Amino acid sequence: MKSQDIRNQFLAFFESKKHSIVPSAPMVIKDDPTLMFTNAGMNQFKEYFLGNGIPKNNRLTDTQKCLRVSGKHNDLEEVGMDTYHHTMFEMLGNWSFGDYFKKEAIEWAWELLTEVYGIDKNILYVSVFEGAKDENLEMDQEAYDLWKKIVPEDRIIMGNKNDNFWEMGDQGPCGPCSEIHVDLRSEEEKAKIPGRDLVNQDDPLVVEIWNLVFMQFNRKADSSLEKLPAQHVDTGMGFERLCMALQGVKSNYDTDVFTPLIREIETITNATYDKDSLPTDENGKVSVAIRVIADHLRAVSFSIADGQLPSNTGAGYVIRRILRRAIRYGFTFLNIKEPFIYKLVDTLSSQMSGAFPELKSQKNLIINVIKEEENSFLRTLDQGLVLLDNVVKGTKGKVVSGEKVFELYDTFGFPEDLTALILSEQGYEYEEEVFKTELQKQKDRSRAASEVKAGDWEILIPNAEEEFIGYDHTSGEARISRYRKV
Ligand code: ATP
Ligand code: MG
Ligand code: MG
Ligand code: MG
Repeated sequence: MKSQDIRNQFLAFFESKKHSIVPSAPMVIKDDPTLMFTNAGMNQFKEYFLGNGIPKNNRLTDTQKCLRVSGKHNDLEEVGMDTYHHTMFEMLGNWSFGDYFKKEAIEWAWELLTEVYGIDKNILYVSVFEGAKDENLEMDQEAYDLWKKIVPEDRIIMGNKNDNFWEMGDQGPCGPCSEIHVDLRSEEEKAKIPGRDLVNQDDPLVVEIWNLVFMQFNRKADSSLEKLPAQHVDTGMGFERLCMALQGVKSNYDTDVFTPLIREIETITNATYDKDSLPTDENGKVSVAIRVIADHLRAVSFSIADGQLPSNTGAGYVIRRILRRAIRYGFTFLNIKEPFIYKLVDTLSSQMSGAFPELKSQKNLIINVIKEEENSFLRTLDQGLVLLDNVVKGTKGKVVSGEKVFELYDTFGFPEDLTALILSEQGYEYEEEVFKTELQKQKDRSRAASEVKAGDWEILIPNAEEEFIGYDHTSGEARISRYRKV
């Protein structure tokens, strides 16, 4: 089944259950000072849960563009290393605002997965909240009893507050959740590690696909819980992971969401993607790099299509860093010294613009912006090489100063791992501990200055001097973010 059909079937299924299909909210959030990027489907409905607004229908469904690169939900370091965490991904969701509750949410999830999509019941596991003594919260017996009717009890796993109690932040609606996991291991793979706990932390082939959150409490300012007058359902299913389960593959990157991009990267760079290699293998880095580039291209393209260009502040800076990360992986592991990532936009656009037309209407802008960024960062990398060369020449012995390496990184944006690679090629080392200490000092400084975390809601103060005020519709071609000084 093609990914496009998988997405449509999800929406059609919930439409048949009287949900209204709504569009994805932008991935880059413009009007909420507490949140920079959408990191879950429910973000755009926050006010309904809080009782501050009324939805047009108390049952909604959509696919939401999400980005998890900062705050509580930061998967950046996982991307490319594993095969199921992305920076940008789609979260399929269905919502009940004070309407149906656990029974329907559970039964419909099961019906969709096993009857509509036809996933083998024997490879599905579910988890239920086990309770939390410190909060005086009981286990979610109601969900357990509902699952028990459809799933054998040895496939119901109890989960703690970390995994199975969802909170929006320090205050607000919250409640227990049930996750659905899919076990993609072959019989041989299972035999290798018998008796292993089947939760997604333990085996890369046992992956969480869907989270059903039952909002039945409100966390008050004094941190106590009270029952909500209305109960809500908030679900989120990883679209790319669902495609993996339905297309009979063992990696999100082997689904048709990613393969056209990967083939294109191979063609342009002459590199070969080895889906079975591990990041630690001698040539595994090439495949990591290809995954990173395919992933980051999506994050950056969707962000530019939303009107957020790379810049030196706030959300724009996050996007610039993601793009530079991709460029660096190409430079270091694929040995590509010319701009090439922009060439992938065409493929992405033709593949995804059915569901996200902004990728088509903004295509030229996306291409131009990425190309320009590639050009300028590749120049930085070139300059860094010259500077590094001078540092090496000025070094007595074979160990380069950690402060110098940090200076290259901090002032010129020259990445540590690239420095390390180049130095080792020339038989040099550097003072890693000194570099790390300097880096930590810098992190502490910037964290203190710019970031306060509050549960799922990340409070970021991007740059007090700038504020987003809307799109520029007058420029014709592009929806460019305009900022005004405040
Ligand atoms: P995980 O434990 O795998 O990190 P999660 O518990 O953080 O997932 P939720 O916040 O419950 O994820 O989000 C709902 C669903 O979104 C998950 O069940 C998963 O299918 C999907 N998802 C979450 N993070 C990612 C990601 N970084 N890339 C792709 N899909 C994701
Ligand atoms: Mg996670
Ligand atoms: Mg999880
Ligand atoms: Mg989860």
